[in-house]
Amino acid sequence: MKIAFYGTKPYDRMFFEPLSKEYGYEVRFIEELLNEHSIIMAQGCDAVCVFVNDEVNADIIDRLYEMGIKAILLRSAGYNNVDLKAAKGKLRVMRVPSYSPEAVAEFAMALLLSVNRKTHRAYVRTREFNMNIQGLMGTDLHGKTAGVVGTGKIGRAMIRILKGFGMHVLAYDVYPDNSLDIDYVELDELLERSDVISLHCPLTKETYHIIDETSIKKMKQGVYLVNTSRGALIDTAAVIEELKSGDTFAGVAFDVYEEEDDLFYEDHSDEPVKDDVIARLMSFPNVIITSHQAFFTKEALRAIAIVTLENAKNLEEGKELMNEVIYGVNA
Ligand code: NAD
Repeated sequence: MKIAFYGTKPYDRMFFEPLSKEYGYEVRFIEELLNEHSIIMAQGCDAVCVFVNDEVNADIIDRLYEMGIKAILLRSAGYNNVDLKAAKGKLRVMRVPSYSPEAVAEFAMALLLSVNRKTHRAYVRTREFNMNIQGLMGTDLHGKTAGVVGTGKIGRAMIRILKGFGMHVLAYDVYPDNSLDIDYVELDELLERSDVISLHCPLTKETYHIIDETSIKKMKQGVYLVNTSRGALIDTAAVIEELKSGDTFAGVAFDVYEEEDDLFYEDHSDEPVKDDVIARLMSFPNVIITSHQAFFTKEALRAIAIVTLENAKNLEEGKELMNEVIYGVNA
């Protein structure tokens, strides 16, 4: 099997290169994202392997199909960047449903702790021997209420962590799992009662801008908002408006951003910032932005490589595709 890996970084190669040899696969590592220009580099391959910011739209799918590509191997859990409707009947789409939920949940907690206790600002101050702690006051998490939106694998890992901090946890999910010891409430109640809100649901038509001007108005004053799921869950402009004029947010920490595709995973430090929205967002002292790195642990990368190549092997051997996502069936 020949696989074209799009958007590859040195850390992807580190895990995929040796493992691909073990599987006997020929791999082509391509630094560019999959798009109308780079698609030609997949010529002669059986599958393309993509990540969260490769935009696999209907045109790309048709061209891949014409080129004889049989599968899209997502090295991610989320699949909102693939037009599954267009892929149906043409290309098999497989994902890595779970690699390390703890990696993402632990990072969400790290963001919350940083934005609350301002360790990111303390680090910069003490590096310059500014030992003044004025302005760095936080709040105890113990005894406070956290609201978790989406109680899948990552949401549950987050709930375990939040409970470990002595927080009372509320949750909202369209498919609540009542066998779990989770205090499910409606979304409005979660927004109204939570001191911390952490998003762990997928991006779908229903969850697009689930946090917008209206939902922000329902939140408590002094809430912390954490998003490690997908950027478009949040109407960034509405968050900025509230940060400018209101006192709803004590802190905002995002690992994802709705316009991250052309921005994240690359070094833009020598260029003028082209995106005014993220520039404005980062101008607030109580905002932390990271570049979609919540998954980024050794354990997670290794698991992603194993499951991705197992997905390819199952396809090659005609076995059941446990990790396939099919429009109208499970997606
Ligand atoms: P999962 O499929 O195990 O769980 C998702 C949960 O969200 C499910 O319980 C589902 O019922 C619920 N859900 C679906 N629609 C909803 C809605 N409208 N409102 C509320 N809940 C809803 O997924 P997971 O593995 O826990 O991952 C969650 C998300 O995290 C992924 O979709 C992905 O976008 C994101 N993610 C981010 C990173 C990162 O590095 N930042 C890494 C992995 C995953």
